[in-house]
Amino acid sequence: MKKMEEKILKEGTILPGGVLKVGSFLNQQIDTPFMKAIGMEIADLFKEEEITRILTIESSGIPIAVSAGFAMNLPVVYAKKNKSSNISGDCYSTMVHSFTHGNNNNVIVGKEYIKPDDKILIVDDFLAHGSALTGLIEIVEQAGAKVVGCVAAIEKGFQMGGDSLRKKGYKVESLAIIEEMTDTEIYFREQ
Ligand code: 5GP
Repeated sequence: MKKMEEKILKEGTILPGGVLKVGSFLNQQIDTPFMKAIGMEIADLFKEEEITRILTIESSGIPIAVSAGFAMNLPVVYAKKNKSSNISGDCYSTMVHSFTHGNNNNVIVGKEYIKPDDKILIVDDFLAHGSALTGLIEIVEQAGAKVVGCVAAIEKGFQMGGDSLRKKGYKVESLAIIEEMTDTEIYFREQ
């Protein structure tokens, strides 16, 4: 998505440790017309697929998933980061390592929100090492449902999570893939 690359170049800030800050349009302030365009782009990327539900993880994935949900007329479920590791039998759960916070989160989804006959599209804001998407895939698989595909607004290709999921056979789409990021420059993968 050319507009995503342009937005990153115009408004993104490179932070130490391979982190990109996009607070002005994605992670703190939401640029609503742009968010609407993101949802429509995701709908277009997956228009051939039969999807029954969208799954994301709180909190930054939610606006993107909701925008895609509007565009595809689908319900959106988000996994919650649970403080306590004491999980009742009512939830699917897995451990997700947070790249930006450097900690592990127990992530849960109530069993009533994913059914074995669901066909799920997984959505997140960033795809870096792939821990968040892998955790969400695990939750869908615990439910006995099908992962139709995964989509990230921004993939950092140099952190390899996306390519490793593609190698495992998952359909992974990203609206922009950053191939390389120096202290001052961003280079995108041709798509
Ligand atoms: P992964 O689990 O793929 O390593 O990292 C993805 C998660 O970490 C996303 O849910 C996102 O919130 C966060 N994340 C990873 N890299 C970045 C980054 O460069 N910038 C921001 N803002 N969040 C990131």
